[in-house]
Amino acid sequence: MNNIAEQLALAYQQLHKFSESRPSEWPAPKLIAVSKTKTAADIEAAYAAGQRRFGENYPQELATKATALTHLGELEWHFIGPLQSNKTKLVAETASWVHSLEREKIARRLSEQRPAHLPPLKVLLQINISAAASKAGITAEQMLPLAAVVATLPGLTLSGLMAIPEPDPARLEADFAQMQQLSRLLQQHYPQAVELSMGMSDDWPLALRYGATMIRLGTAIFGARNYDKHE
Ligand SMILES: *Cc1c(COP(=O)(O)O)cnc(C)c1O
Repeated sequence: MNNIAEQLALAYQQLHKFSESRPSEWPAPKLIAVSKTKTAADIEAAYAAGQRRFGENYPQELATKATALTHLGELEWHFIGPLQSNKTKLVAETASWVHSLEREKIARRLSEQRPAHLPPLKVLLQINISAAASKAGITAEQMLPLAAVVATLPGLTLSGLMAIPEPDPARLEADFAQMQQLSRLLQQHYPQAVELSMGMSDDWPLALRYGATMIRLGTAIFGARNYDKHE
């Protein structure tokens, strides 16, 4: 086995172990392999090992890799990075999921630009849970108003929430717990919006305890990233 296959096997083994203690009514967590800055060959190695869900942060990089990898069936692209209006088309045409929705204008563009032959784009609202000035995302108070807009758009399916908490051990658990509460509130209004995308290589076991349904693992699968030659 190559390194990527080994890391994936290890991550899935741990995921199954940590999932055993979750209430049986919670959805089984899904692992998104975050391949930003990694090559198409790295993605093919993970695919050969059985991985189908991949996360990308940059629209152009997503589009380039999606084009290079059209021969791989069942590949599911998750767009998880910041999204500007001039790049929405690339994402609307290639992704199955957007985790990082935070603006009504972007939602409307994604819906309009979603090709008719594809199913609606599944979107998660990104919450700035640590209220860090540097972080993307909406406040808890903005969640239901943005959800109400997304729910009216034919090209989108409102599917849940996403967060990237500050890696601060003193507040991480409280941030995950608050995301779980927000997710429950959202589901009272939109019962189909069950997904909760939180947890990265360094903190995902804790995220799972607070109801994460999607964990986004980059370093743990593909190793450290090199941003030198990046857009
Ligand atoms: C890069 C990135 C990840 C993966 O981070 P790791 O710490 O390498 O697992 C997950 N989510 C988002 C939004 C990212 O940008």
